[in-house]
Amino acid sequence: MNSQQKMVWRKFQQTFPSDEHCLEKIISGLVKIGWEFTCSRCFSKALKRKFGERRYFCSDCHYRGWILAGTFFEFIRKSRLWLGAIWLFENGIQINAWQFHRLADCAYSTALMIFRKIGFVLNENLESFENAKKTLSENFLSLFWKRSNQTPRGEHPVMEQDCCDQLDMLTNEESIDLTENNKQLTEEQNAIMRLVSENKVHFDQICNSLQLLSGQIMGELTLLELDDLIERHPGNFFTQKSKKNTKELNNILSDASLPRQQIDAFCDFVKSQIHGISRKYLQVYLAIFWCVEDRKRWSSEKLLQACCRSNFKSSRLLFQYVTPFEVLIS
Ligand SMILES: [Zn+2]
Repeated sequence: MNSQQKMVWRKFQQTFPSDEHCLEKIISGLVKIGWEFTCSRCFSKALKRKFGERRYFCSDCHYRGWILAGTFFEFIRKSRLWLGAIWLFENGIQINAWQFHRLADCAYSTALMIFRKIGFVLNENLESFENAKKTLSENFLSLFWKRSNQTPRGEHPVMEQDCCDQLDMLTNEESIDLTENNKQLTEEQNAIMRLVSENKVHFDQICNSLQLLSGQIMGELTLLELDDLIERHPGNFFTQKSKKNTKELNNILSDASLPRQQIDAFCDFVKSQIHGISRKYLQVYLAIFWCVEDRKRWSSEKLLQACCRSNFKSSRLLFQYVTPFEVLIS
């Protein structure tokens, strides 16, 4: 924690001395974006609620419901932590989840989840930002130091990039032209060919993806190798022999519009602030970086309103999310 973080946090605590004050601020943010608070049973607008209370009382049907139901903030427990994190971001404070957990005295996992969800909201906005540029996720390889649920078992986090390349091949299935080889492949061999790309894929990844016996897969791989369709590399890695996709990849990489300066600036930001990230959440951090950089766009109240507008609620989506092959940078 640095002195600037502490100073801004103190200011936050003075402005919003309690959880109740924070809840009211969030509700006022929702009012500002035009959110209509209605009874979830009879849709009446005649709701009664005391200052700082999460539950309302419907004057028409006497139902007691949750005031934040249906909003981005539906499942939050402590308004103070959410508003606090938003406040720090809006004030341009560079802070990581570990520092926030200590500053705000909350669990590290809570801090991380709050940061990622806010990052998701920022990313929703980055997707519709007219000046966002596209680049390849592999330009950020040097940052991938943290494990995620996408990291192959027993491998370095950087190996996630290979899994992603392999998934990209799956989505571009038609780009693999096997017919030119005039080979009649079995169903299993075709499945393997779809997984093995120009980038190295580990044997374990193939086994995990196909759910066949490893012995059977090894047998099929040997046959494909004999047919000169795939290549085996040290450490049980495999690549496809086609040159087609390498060319396509090089074309994108040599693109003159590559936002090199922004990539470098982002890499410096991650290395100085968070040290390393997982590939899985790269896009989320790119969005957070946008907020750090573009102070005009993300000044006071802007992020709170973006959260109020967001439809993103489920933590499961956060868990399932994987940064795509191509990423957006501000
Ligand atoms: Zn009602």
